[in-house]
Amino acid sequence: MILFDGKQSAADALQSLAEKSTQLLSQYGRRPCLNVVIAGDDYGSMRYVASCEKNAIKAGIDCKVIRLPQTVSEIELIDRIRQLNEDMTVDGILVQMPLPQGVDANKVIQAVSPDKDVDGITDTNTARLWKSRKNDYSRFCVPCTPRSVMRILKETIVELDGKQAVVIGRSNIVGLPVSKLLMNENATVTVAHSHTQNLPALLRQADIIVAAVGKARFVTADMVKKGAVVIDVGINQDPMTGKMCGDVDTERVAPLCSVITPVPGGVGLLTICSLLENTLDCFLRQQH
Ligand code: NAD
Repeated sequence: MILFDGKQSAADALQSLAEKSTQLLSQYGRRPCLNVVIAGDDYGSMRYVASCEKNAIKAGIDCKVIRLPQTVSEIELIDRIRQLNEDMTVDGILVQMPLPQGVDANKVIQAVSPDKDVDGITDTNTARLWKSRKNDYSRFCVPCTPRSVMRILKETIVELDGKQAVVIGRSNIVGLPVSKLLMNENATVTVAHSHTQNLPALLRQADIIVAAVGKARFVTADMVKKGAVVIDVGINQDPMTGKMCGDVDTERVAPLCSVITPVPGGVGLLTICSLLENTLDCFLRQQH
């Protein structure tokens, strides 16, 4: 059984980014630059943004955080994003969710230029993803968490062609893009959701399970077949201990698996690396 080491993988990714961005600095006179827009003081968002800043330093990428008050209006937010779209020194724009009440998040997201959409969630980039084929991601950013899931599968040399995959969750930022990326690799994909019937039976058929439900220890050992690959995207608070845990009962599921990702220390660590890689990719596309 391989217990995926997200720490090592993230360290390698940041090191590789640092080397590339040093090279870009000497070639183009500046480093790739990410701007993160955050409105209000949501605790989870502030932690995520602080982690972006810390990891951007390690990756040699400039990261500027634009902190706006909880009272900011939709128009002000969109104006700010339009300014960033015009600014040639800004390569990537991340709008941190949640936005304050009364602000239409979709309108704000759609205001981001698709060329700077490091989250890959504008309608233009969603359409590009759904029309994409295997290894055909050079024109847009693949959403960060799905990009990390695919990286893990690649790094652990999981064969996807012809395999049965079940993705639990159909959100626009995780479940749906992961399912498309798996299909691009010729896996046969089932997307399960809150109305799916007899999920345990579906999961027992799966060679690959991607859990993106948001429910602590939702996937239990009786649902997993021997030798399965289990990617745990969930970030939950364990109701018993109060500590962070995933969507999978890792302790009991791991002995059955060929590969499993821990929480913490798995997918989550790579998501920020994917964000910084997407920033560097936007920089390169802008130069060309
Ligand atoms: P979401 O709430 O948007 O989606 C959850 C999905 O789970 C929905 O599609 C829903 O239909 C499905 N679901 C709910 N109950 C179910 C059930 N009983 N059976 C089958 N499906 C069920 O959540 P999301 O934004 O996709 O995030 C999912 C999890 O991943 C959360 O824990 C979130 O914190 C985590 N997450 C982690 C990262 C990371 O970098 N590791 C990034 C984004 C989200």
